[in-house]
Amino acid sequence: MEVRNCRKCGRMFNYMSGTPICAACKEKLEEKFQEVKAFVSENKKATIAMIAEECDVDANQIRKWVREERLEFSADSPIGLPCENCGAIIRSGKYCEKCKNEMVNRFGEVLPKPKQEEPVQKKTKESPRMRFLDN
Ligand SMILES: [Zn+2]
Ligand SMILES: [Zn+2]
Repeated sequence: MEVRNCRKCGRMFNYMSGTPICAACKEKLEEKFQEVKAFVSENKKATIAMIAEECDVDANQIRKWVREERLEFSADSPIGLPCENCGAIIRSGKYCEKCKNEMVNRFGEVLPKPKQEEPVQKKTKESPRMRFLDN
């Protein structure tokens, strides 16, 4: 167990994992999140600065929620964050649709590559043991 100072209130607490904030502050933050979420759904055109001021919450915290895909904004919202890959403006998560698709395709390429002639003949499971016996 590790004792740390809470990043929010400075009190010592038993640190487990994740963001170093104490249980009380975590709870407060969760309440804040619900408040922000409600505010966003009622004020679809609010900017991050407006939300930060209205809900008395750190703008960076709001961005974090957006990155975690906990907060989403409507299509006419002025809020946007740059895609972490290409910089295109997105409203939730880390990457734009284009980059997400490209990543999926890249994963896809690795799997079903057309089979080429196998350069080396596969050894049977028996061979290492047999060689061992020969020695
Ligand atoms: Zn705290
Ligand atoms: Zn992108």
